[in-house]
Amino acid sequence: MSNAWKVHAVKYAHRSERVRGDSYIFDDHPAEPEGMDYFVWVLDNGQRRILVDTGYDEGEARRRDRPILLDPAVAIGALGVDADTVDTVIITHLHYDHAGGLDRYPNAVFHVQAAEMAYATGPCMCHDVLQMPFTVGHVCEMVRHVYSGRVMFHDGSAEVAPGVRVHCVGGHSRGLQVVEVETQFGPLCLASDATHYYENFLLGKPFPIVADLEPMLDGFNTIRRIAGGNERVIPGHDPMVTQLFPQHDTVPFAWRLDVGPKMPVSVETLIRPGA
Ligand SMILES: [Zn+2]
Repeated sequence: MSNAWKVHAVKYAHRSERVRGDSYIFDDHPAEPEGMDYFVWVLDNGQRRILVDTGYDEGEARRRDRPILLDPAVAIGALGVDADTVDTVIITHLHYDHAGGLDRYPNAVFHVQAAEMAYATGPCMCHDVLQMPFTVGHVCEMVRHVYSGRVMFHDGSAEVAPGVRVHCVGGHSRGLQVVEVETQFGPLCLASDATHYYENFLLGKPFPIVADLEPMLDGFNTIRRIAGGNERVIPGHDPMVTQLFPQHDTVPFAWRLDVGPKMPVSVETLIRPGA
């Protein structure tokens, strides 16, 4: 049996009011607009499906005044994935936009780094600025899943399924993990928020929400090493993903990632001069 997985990015939200200063520390053009997309990712090897992240739902959208385009648990249905029957969910980290709506997956085991749970429930959360990207309800729900035996903890690198591995990189959140997926195009690295945009890792520019800066910077190299090339690194929030990869034939909010981008990924090709 081949371990080649099909991988789709499913876009469930977009924010257009952001500026570059929200995404890059020490940027030369901090007031210039730069939109942000929000994704969950679906892995499918023909026998098995794995969901990477759960996004956030309508309730959270209202609380944060950050509207969603689609409920992620419904959106994945368009790819034939029934939230009720999903058995494996990888949560890259516990920030509100990656770990909401866990109750929509009643039969799933959640794969989380032990360091992320410790961070999200430990002394760092006494600081407003560090707890800001978390939603306490999401964290409490994950704690409940720990008690009901539905969380698989990892400590560093681990295999979730044949051809699917997680690696802890930290940085943006202390237990942030990225996902290495074997595909027909080679090893894909779903980097999630190890690099929000292509520009973060291509130019080594840190994102302002950061738990530990050095691991964030090291992570830019780690994701490249895992993928073995820029073309197979998938940033967590870059609208450019929807330009570089082919849209699904019938699902307009999904993009196929395991076939490679339409153009090379480099500073020269993607980053505008003066950025
Ligand atoms: Zn995020």
